[in-house]
Amino acid sequence: MTADRKPITSHRRVVIKIGSALLVDRKTGLKSQWLDAVCADIAALKARGIDVLVVSSGAIAMGRTVLDLPSGALKLEESQAAAAVGQIALARAWSESLSRDGIVAGQILLTLGDTEERRRYLNARATINQLLKIGAVPIINENDTVATTEIRYGDNDRLAARVATMTSADLLILLSDIDGLYTAPPHLDPDAQFLEVIPAITPEIEAMAGGAASELSRGGMRTKIDAGKIATGAGCAMIIASGKTEHPLRAIEQGARSSWFAASGSPVTARKTWIAGQLLPAGELHIDDGAKRALGSGKSLLPAGVRQIEGSFHRGDTVAIIGTDGREIARGLAGYDADEARQIIGRKSAEIEAILGYPGRSAMVHRDDLVVTGTLQEHAATDEMNKDAAHA
Ligand code: GLU
Repeated sequence: MTADRKPITSHRRVVIKIGSALLVDRKTGLKSQWLDAVCADIAALKARGIDVLVVSSGAIAMGRTVLDLPSGALKLEESQAAAAVGQIALARAWSESLSRDGIVAGQILLTLGDTEERRRYLNARATINQLLKIGAVPIINENDTVATTEIRYGDNDRLAARVATMTSADLLILLSDIDGLYTAPPHLDPDAQFLEVIPAITPEIEAMAGGAASELSRGGMRTKIDAGKIATGAGCAMIIASGKTEHPLRAIEQGARSSWFAASGSPVTARKTWIAGQLLPAGELHIDDGAKRALGSGKSLLPAGVRQIEGSFHRGDTVAIIGTDGREIARGLAGYDADEARQIIGRKSAEIEAILGYPGRSAMVHRDDLVVTGTLQEHAATDEMNKDAAHA
């Protein structure tokens, strides 16, 4: 371990991806003892206040076992049917096993569109965040029953990385049957060296990833490195570790061999860079001085502080936030469509339900979706104006 690598327990939010082969045995089905052990590890993390999300593979493998399908490749509709059967069993297994530790599980099935389209992305994220808020563990998988070749992730490594970035997790752990990254595929090259720390995913690192995948899972080292690029680029560190031992998370903490990929920025910076980098805000929210002060202390923008709305935008679109002096203060993702937003400006959050007919979200722009692009302090703005005047 290097000085940079922190223990799992010093992270805030951890996404754990679990490969099919760890959970499901082709002959005997669910490996319930292993599952119970991993759930105990998850409970230990949660007891320390860490948010835990699980991306669990195994639906197709479980379905194959339940349906007693012969080994070998399945046709798309066969694997979709297997996933439909297996996902129920998988979700029940997670729910039962976590409940032994007093933890509630919530199932989330995502498709590629749910993470690529901004509005659906925000919806999925809001649900996941709410599950975390109530202390539940989201159990996430791709919705294999409706995903077809063109519109699917196909592997849960990259899905897990997207979930990690979507939820601003600071650590992604990929548990599979390989303990980490080697300079070459270890089963082919006796000189292959194990890499414990990967400070950055360079082209050389990418070249080290072979295409190998086991029969039960789709992801090989290739998709793990792809996942690493997604996660680390958004400020989330990644660990590849073997899940073959019982209590795999505890084993990592106790020094079991694993590869650690350093994050390349902080989660906030990556996300906010994306928001600030939107070229054309779809609208403007003109706010009062009270709201401006609230933004200055890192709070969300509430409807009460908005005086006027320009433009037509949808929830999730980027909007510019403008101060009473007409200057841009910040940018953020709108929490409401423009027509809804117009109805609730100047109103208290408690009044929203009566106006819109549904509870809505309390923030017009949530602080996680907001980046300051202008000046927040009055005197600084004045100084700048004075400078401008002096130069004029
Ligand atoms: N979503 C697939 C399943 O649950 C697994 C994909 C993967 O192995 O990465 O069977």
